[in-house]
Order: sequence, then C-alpha cells, then structure tokens
Amino acid sequence: MKPQILLIYTGGTIGMIKDPVTASLQAFDFDSLLDKIPELNLLDCSIDTVSFKMPIDSSNINPSHWVEIATIIEKKYAAHDGFVVLHGSDTMSYSASALSFMLENLSKPVILTGSQLPIGDLRTDAKENLITAIQIAALQNNNKAVVKEVGLYFEYKLYRGNRTTKINADYFEAFASLNFPALLTSGVHLNVKHELLLKNYSQAPLIVHKSLDNNVALVKLFPGITATVLKSILGTPQLKAVVIETYGSGNATTDDWFLQAMEDAIAKGIYIVNVTQCAGGSVQMSQYHTGKLLEELGVISGNDMTTESALTKLMYMLGLKISRKMFKTVFETDLRGEIS
Ligand code: ASP
Repeated sequence: MKPQILLIYTGGTIGMIKDPVTASLQAFDFDSLLDKIPELNLLDCSIDTVSFKMPIDSSNINPSHWVEIATIIEKKYAAHDGFVVLHGSDTMSYSASALSFMLENLSKPVILTGSQLPIGDLRTDAKENLITAIQIAALQNNNKAVVKEVGLYFEYKLYRGNRTTKINADYFEAFASLNFPALLTSGVHLNVKHELLLKNYSQAPLIVHKSLDNNVALVKLFPGITATVLKSILGTPQLKAVVIETYGSGNATTDDWFLQAMEDAIAKGIYIVNVTQCAGGSVQMSQYHTGKLLEELGVISGNDMTTESALTKLMYMLGLKISRKMFKTVFETDLRGEIS
C-alpha cells in the first residue's frame, strides 16, 4: 500500500499566489493544491490535505496554533503514515521545537516546510521544498517510517526541527542547525544519515501534550543593559521562567545589581535558563568566573539548545507542572534530541 500523507496548511508564503492583475499575494484555496501542482500526482504516496480555517502569516503563530496542529496530528495519526506541516518560515523553528516536545513517542515523521517565494512564482523554492518534504514523510523501511521525529525541510536539507534557527530573510537557504548536522540532504538521491535520526524503539503510543504555559520571557544581554529594564522584566506578574541569552559560553556581567537581580528572581521561584547568544556552541558556566557565578546562583544550563528550543521546552515543562525539585534536572536532560 502507498504511504498515506497528510498535508496540514497553516499559512505563510508557500500557499500564496500572485494575483495576476494586482500583483498582491493572496492565499489560494488549499483544497485545490493537487490541481495547482500536478507534479504531486507523480509521487508514490497518497496525499490528503487539511487547512487552518484562517491561514495565518507565521508571525501571528502562538501556542494555541501549536495545539491546533498537534490535535490534527493526534486525530489523524492512526490513518496516516507521515505529516507535512506547511508553515511560514518566520517562526517555523519555534513551531518545530514546540511540536517536538508536545509529541511524545512519535513514531512517524512530522516535517515542517515552507518557502521564501510563493508557490506560483516563476523562481519559487516552494515546489522543491514541498515535494521533497512529502517524499521524506513517505520514506519507509520494511513498512516502518524512516524518520520518527519532528523535522524541518528547507533548501535541500532536513534538519532536526528543535535544532534550527531562521538565519536569513532573503536567501533560499533560510535555516541553519549549527549544533547538529543535517539529518538528510537532497541531491540526485535522498541521502539519509540514519545514524543521526532519533530511534524511538519503544512501542509506546503517541502522547500529545497540549498544556503549554507561556508565562516566560526572553532577555538578550548587551553591554549597557540597565538594572531598570532587567528588573522590570523579572518583576512581570505571573512570570515563571526566563531565558537569558548570555555571551559566549554562558557569561554575563558580574555587576552586583545583575547578580542580585538573578538571585532575587530565583528566590521568588522564577527559573532562569542560560543559553548563548552565539549562533553555535554551548553554555559551559564553569568555564569562566563570569559564568560560574550564575551557576552558583542556581541558573539552569541551556547547554547547546537554541533559544527557540529553550523557550518552548520551558512552556512544555511548565505545562507539565514538573516539581521544583526536578525542574533543573529535567530541563538539562535531552528529551527530544535538542541537547548534544
Ligand atoms: N512572513 C511569512 C511567514 O512567516 C514568511 C514566510 O512564509 O516564509 O508566514
């Protein structure tokens, strides 16, 4: 039997066509996708489609949309062999990261893709991205899915979704995964790096976690950041956790006001996660005195996680209501391949 693939259209440039008269971009009727791209009929799989009622630019994505996507996957899980989520590129890495945590025991591919140019554009990157993403979602070995995780496919590369960051607003090569190699490259053949894929040997059923707590904040340090700004963020009502993007291997100013603000926040029960603002590499707080002080205060290490991954992991873990005693240990543990 041919693999059965479900395409979930959430919005973004990929599903837009240029109005020939006004030249403005408009969402096209997604149900007619197969008519618009007849090449899809040549693929060795069957394709079903489902679309958000109101497709959105991915800048408008919020956790409720992640729940919507995860719920579609949950409902259609038994009847489909793989899922392709069409999504705007702007926040695709956040969505891929969030879905990776929300979908526990995944044994089928969930591949996010999109494009920099609309599907109707002469020079579009949408067709290759879409066609190959579907092929990847349909890849099987002995009737079992080859990819059993949330991936992001863009410009000839499949990445682990929770390792990616959008790095370019113009180029077709819009994403990077600096701390983990591509899982697959697409050339004349699809070159799968089997040794890098998540294995998921367990036969445990899919668990979909839908409770996400977004009482979190993100602070990027810069020389000159004031105590007033930092304290006002840390004083936000209901705030439960903060990701701090620090310098290099997890270093921050040792000014008293800064360390005091960290200590006060932690004493109030706010979790502080340290990720590096470098595009690649890892936090190692014990390496320099300027990081060691944070470690001693009880700051959680984000290791080599992306900011997108750290933020969504916090939302997921806060939603799970993990105990205060266990929170740091669980956060610093690799759950879905997000930490090396
Ligand atoms: N602004 C668009 C979005 O993220 C860009 C894209 O589709 O890639 O929805």
